[in-house]
Amino acid sequence: MATIAKVAVNDATIHFDKLYSYLVPGELAGRLWPGGIVLVPFGRGNRPRMAVVLELTQESDPPTRLKTLLDAAPEDARLTPDLLSLVRFLRERYFCTWYEAVKAVIPYGAQYCPGVEDGRPVVKSRLARPTERVYHLVGALAEKPKPGPRQRMAVELLQQNESMTQHELEQQGVSRTTLDALCAKGVLRVSERYKSLDLFSQIPYEPRPVELSAEQQAACDQLEADLLSGEPRAALLYGVTGSGKTSVFVKLIEKTLAMGRKALVLVPEIGLTPQMIRRLKALFGNRLAVQHSALNNTERLLQWRMIQRGEADIVVGTRSAIFAPLSNIGLIILDEEQEHTYQSESAPRYSAHDVAKKRVAAEKALLVFASATPRTETMFAARSGRIRLVTLRERYGGRPLPTVEFVDMRAELAAGNPRELSARLISELAENLQRGEQSILLLNRRGYNTVAICSDCGEVLKCPNCSVPLVYHKNRQMLLCHHCGHQLQPVPGLCPSCGGKLLYSGFGTQRVEEELAAALPGARILRMDQDSTMQKNAHERMFTRFARQEYDILLGTQMVAKGLDFEKVTLVGVLGIDSMLFGQGFRSYENTFSLITQVVGRGGRAELPGRALIQTAVPEHPVLQLAAGQDYEAFYQEEIAFRKLCLYPPYCAFCVVGFSGSQDGAVFAAAHRFGSILAEQAARQPRLPLRVLGPTPMNIAMLNGKYRYKLTLKCRNDAAFRALMRQTLEEYGEQKLPARASVAIDFNSDGDM
Ligand code: ADP
Ligand code: ZN
Repeated sequence: MATIAKVAVNDATIHFDKLYSYLVPGELAGRLWPGGIVLVPFGRGNRPRMAVVLELTQESDPPTRLKTLLDAAPEDARLTPDLLSLVRFLRERYFCTWYEAVKAVIPYGAQYCPGVEDGRPVVKSRLARPTERVYHLVGALAEKPKPGPRQRMAVELLQQNESMTQHELEQQGVSRTTLDALCAKGVLRVSERYKSLDLFSQIPYEPRPVELSAEQQAACDQLEADLLSGEPRAALLYGVTGSGKTSVFVKLIEKTLAMGRKALVLVPEIGLTPQMIRRLKALFGNRLAVQHSALNNTERLLQWRMIQRGEADIVVGTRSAIFAPLSNIGLIILDEEQEHTYQSESAPRYSAHDVAKKRVAAEKALLVFASATPRTETMFAARSGRIRLVTLRERYGGRPLPTVEFVDMRAELAAGNPRELSARLISELAENLQRGEQSILLLNRRGYNTVAICSDCGEVLKCPNCSVPLVYHKNRQMLLCHHCGHQLQPVPGLCPSCGGKLLYSGFGTQRVEEELAAALPGARILRMDQDSTMQKNAHERMFTRFARQEYDILLGTQMVAKGLDFEKVTLVGVLGIDSMLFGQGFRSYENTFSLITQVVGRGGRAELPGRALIQTAVPEHPVLQLAAGQDYEAFYQEEIAFRKLCLYPPYCAFCVVGFSGSQDGAVFAAAHRFGSILAEQAARQPRLPLRVLGPTPMNIAMLNGKYRYKLTLKCRNDAAFRALMRQTLEEYGEQKLPARASVAIDFNSDGDM
């Protein structure tokens, strides 16, 4: 009998991701499981490649030409059955390769790569393993030969403590040499274990009972019933900004832990994790782990191991935390569920919503989507009874929502104000300064001047690799491509095509910061955008300082709009919203409505009432009017009617198939062929709903030197349709088209990639 492993290899493509069979050598037998990570000789040159084992079989008569596995990663690197089933799900649902899915569910630090040891290929851990030596007392200390004082001390210490790390013992004055000697005598035993890491040890444990308002209690009761049901359930907690959704989460988590189960809490941005961690850690203590991309690889690995060992009851994190190796999950919360950051924009292009649904189904748990402005699809599911709808109508403590007014920027321009900040906004800011109250300004664009335009030929200075304008960054004195990072220095004054004078127009956070400083001398301004928050924990430090009122004005991109809770903020200003309103993609109205509601909701959350000013050239626009009235219901009615009329989700699935390659014509032709193959395949299944649009160039027609086209499909995303797509991909591969254009498939796009 021979053991055969069926594996999927790293670096496959979606049109060609087959399982390969390998012979399991004797020394690896018993060390392999489905979900195991292995190293295999691959291709003609037998180059070592990482792979994941999907099946193990015993065969009495294996094919003779099978290759043999080279090595296997240790058991703790293996995908648990839960994670393996998520890998299957990702691959089936999002058209990624097996191994892309593996890399999505396992953090970088826990991954393996090919290495060499004693001239032979082996698996190598990506990180030096963050382990420490731990000592235990296992025998008595003999009196002959007479032990030294340090040896006695070590033994005494270990009589008082069950085990101690080398580091702890060294701090008491016991050296490694002493410990080695004691181990040699059989008095101590040493083992290696993963270091534990308490990332938030400074947060005090202050469990305080949370008293819910009557409305919050009613919401909580409904959700609790689902939590206790022992069935997979999903609900939308729709509550206006400041209604206290977090208080409801806290109660539900309490209940979940009391049931002996675990909770997973997702927030849309790294910037929001500290606030959530602080709150939960104060109430629930240390059994809390974190998973997000701002942790370094070691921190992230240690937190992951902690979850894997069952030492965390609560996990808080951003999108990828949905893959946390948490078992016995009772509750998953997606806070601010409308945020696009819950959709991955690289393979696997998954949505945390779908993965969460999959997990609650497997765990018979409760999934709570929470938002003041739910996605149209989520509200539709709630209204049509597919998930429970739970509503919080009032702000906590009966505080009024801020009043919202518009500043007409056309009038501002006519009155001769060339600046980005209107006279009205400046005077309101000045008033706040005088009263010692804080303000938040949202500007949805980073950098200084957006673009350089030639005053003669009208050409915009673009990135040579991407068809997007370069952005001027004043502090770094350079033009920068926000897509590929291409830099242009020194900053040119003349047009490279015609030699005309370049005008720098448009505006960004840095420019507005300067205008503010000039208009309000003495105002303490804090700018938050991608450029100012590059350092580790920058978000948290900045938010803390703003909360301590070390600043008067917080100016920033989207990251200042969401979820934050500062009591002294009474004025919110919104700049540059029109470009979002008139942006591409079927979700632009929803996104605009949501962003305005969110940022306006940052004001007037405590005693002081709030007000908001929105600068726009189209104050009469219905979406802005609805956002000003904070009338989600009316917005939803308009939006769902539009989605129905024009056939967009939830009335169909919307899928973008992207093509990219180095030759413009070839990419277009390949995209065209894909469309034809798909149409042929679909014609064999007459009742399959499908519309194919395109190919058309993507919004960014060239990226990193590659030309890009897309097909837009309106379809029903079910197993039959995905099978059809799979056949199409296979045929596309057989016709050798991937050499002309690689393909990516995205079901979460709102129009482009
Ligand atoms: P949301 O997430 O719905 O916008 P939050 O959960 O941030 O609202 O709550 C808004 C404010 O009201 C916070 O300052 C919070 O501390 C306070 N709050 C909400 N519910 C309660 C409660 N039950 N007891 C005390 N304070 C509460
Ligand atoms: Zn570029």
